[in-house]
Amino acid sequence: MPIAHCPNCGTSYQGWALLSARHQTCTTCGQRLKIQLNDQIFNGYSPFDAEKLILNMTGDTPSPPPGEKKKGKREQ
Ligand SMILES: [Zn+2]
Repeated sequence: MPIAHCPNCGTSYQGWALLSARHQTCTTCGQRLKIQLNDQIFNGYSPFDAEKLILNMTGDTPSPPPGEKKKGKREQ
């Protein structure tokens, strides 16, 4: 059975529900949990991190330069 604890406030959790993303966030402070299953330790899901990831993806996506559609008129 996986166990977890919150690195921020120290609250402990255990149960198979920890494998579900919606249970990988501390219900006390909102920090993502450190989950231990057998010998593996991994970080739980945090909605804050997901939001950050989406923002990064948006920022890294290059917008097409103006004039991209006019490939027939490309000059060197
Ligand atoms: Zn906590």
